[in-house]
Amino acid sequence: MNNVNDIITQELRAFASSLLESGEVSAFLGFAHGSLPMTTRPFVAKTPEDAQKLVWNSFCVLNLANYLPALLKSIEPPRGPKDPPPEGPLPKAGVIATGCWSRNIVVQTQENQVDRSRLVIAGVSSRGMVDRKKVLKALDGKEITKIEEKDHDLIVEADGAIKELNRWSVTRDNCQSCVHSSAVVFDHWIGPKLDDRQAPNRFKQIEDIEKMTADERWAWFSKEIETCIRCYACRNACPLCYCETCFVDDSNPQWVGKSIEKADAAIFHLLRAFHCAGRCTDCGACESACPMGIRMRLLTKKLEKDVFELFGDEAGMDASKPLTMTTYKLEDPQGFIFEPKHGQKKE
Ligand code: SF4
Ligand code: SF4
Ligand code: SF4
Repeated sequence: MNNVNDIITQELRAFASSLLESGEVSAFLGFAHGSLPMTTRPFVAKTPEDAQKLVWNSFCVLNLANYLPALLKSIEPPRGPKDPPPEGPLPKAGVIATGCWSRNIVVQTQENQVDRSRLVIAGVSSRGMVDRKKVLKALDGKEITKIEEKDHDLIVEADGAIKELNRWSVTRDNCQSCVHSSAVVFDHWIGPKLDDRQAPNRFKQIEDIEKMTADERWAWFSKEIETCIRCYACRNACPLCYCETCFVDDSNPQWVGKSIEKADAAIFHLLRAFHCAGRCTDCGACESACPMGIRMRLLTKKLEKDVFELFGDEAGMDASKPLTMTTYKLEDPQGFIFEPKHGQKKE
């Protein structure tokens, strides 16, 4: 019997192929196999034949929402700067989306980065994506030459030896604490639809850090980012980071130095995290993209927890509501903004 990834892959290829064949979409965004074991790459199918290259497995760690604004732009009819906008509806693109990616698409629509009417979303239930670093650790860093994914296990070949790993034990931390694993917006469903997961300790990693003293937290943060090389792979993998000029690239004014010196790296991480407050879906793409194994996701996860506890909001769950940080209620808690000092009365 086919495993769940094979079922999803077959359904996905058939769906993308039918959309491309009928001309309903001009492109379909999914994943194709990568060049190394345990890797995939974002892939745009433009013909039914291309669609046969689409794959689905636990190594689809990047967030496809990240590529949608540019993809939609790229399929518009070419026009010069002075040409009038084209008449009639613009071409559509298809995309496969898990829970977090679909929530990022919702955020992108709320921020006018993508036009929902130009998307055909194939919803899928994610069973969690694999953390390459956890697999390598389980294999003592040996080079992986082949990997086969079963429903519950990974069969890994490394240095001529074969090892079986429990799939869930090597899934990413963000996937293990995810409670919205199925797409929240979709036009068509692919594969089995799973109930939302229960994760009673979804903020456990953050609670452990919150229990530290301020000095301990600073030491933890400094240690976590000490190997950051400022390559910006984390920023570039994030579907929220679409600013034409990022604050780290600005030179007039220069908000932050460009070196890997400790203070500059700290400002980069803290500011980027705050830019994601109320928008981040904990998709984990930033962390998966980091070549240095830095867990910068814990900063955005802390803000996700704060937004949830202070405002009861979760990014991308409801397209009809404004984003948390773009609106306010008079009764919103504000103790975190204004801490009374010198005998002032706390509100
Ligand atoms: S870090 Fe901030 S300024 Fe830079 S791209 Fe992301 S959202 Fe924009
Ligand atoms: S900050 Fe990281 S976890 Fe949050 S949406 Fe961006 S890539 Fe995903
Ligand atoms: S991807 Fe990693 S090394 Fe690169 S800037 Fe982000 S945290 Fe630093």
